[in-house]
Amino acid sequence: MHHRMSWSPDNPRYCAGCRKAKKACICDRLQPFRNRIPIDFVVSAEEQARARTTSWLAHRLLEQSSFQAADELPEPAPTAAILYPSEDALLWSELPQPGRLIVPDDTWDRSRALLREHPRLQNLPRVRLAGSYQGRSQVRRAPKPGALSTAEAVGYFLLEQGEAQAERLIELIDHLNQREQHYKGNRRPGLSGKP
Ligand SMILES: [Zn+2]
Repeated sequence: MHHRMSWSPDNPRYCAGCRKAKKACICDRLQPFRNRIPIDFVVSAEEQARARTTSWLAHRLLEQSSFQAADELPEPAPTAAILYPSEDALLWSELPQPGRLIVPDDTWDRSRALLREHPRLQNLPRVRLAGSYQGRSQVRRAPKPGALSTAEAVGYFLLEQGEAQAERLIELIDHLNQREQHYKGNRRPGLSGKP
């Protein structure tokens, strides 16, 4: 059922910019800004074709970013690290040579699978956020309560590195979240009183 909303470049109902239905286009909110630390979003081939990934929106907002399928990923730069909150993950400031950040797909399970399938990613130094944050996103099904969408995680990461404009990534997710609540409310008014 969730494939009903699938974006494809040939589907005239969808916007090529934000990959949302044209009537729900949010491209006016995707004016890019120049981030300092380059971000490479890496997705599975399946995810690359999905409509609702927040990686794509974050990529549209960040001038210094790429968005590519893991299968097509070139050999990562020696200064690359991956955003992956495992126990051995370091802070960005603890890396010997911080350069660019590779950011895997939205959900924890998918990221783990992606790393397993791609030794290039598996062997990169791992980076975590310094703070802990509550995810606001209901745009993507979160793997666990409080989990962050990719756009939020990258937003907080850049904010922690002093890139104030990255607040726009958080605002974008807030906007999408509010809009989703609004649509839900309109579609199923009878359910609004349920716990
Ligand atoms: Zn659009």
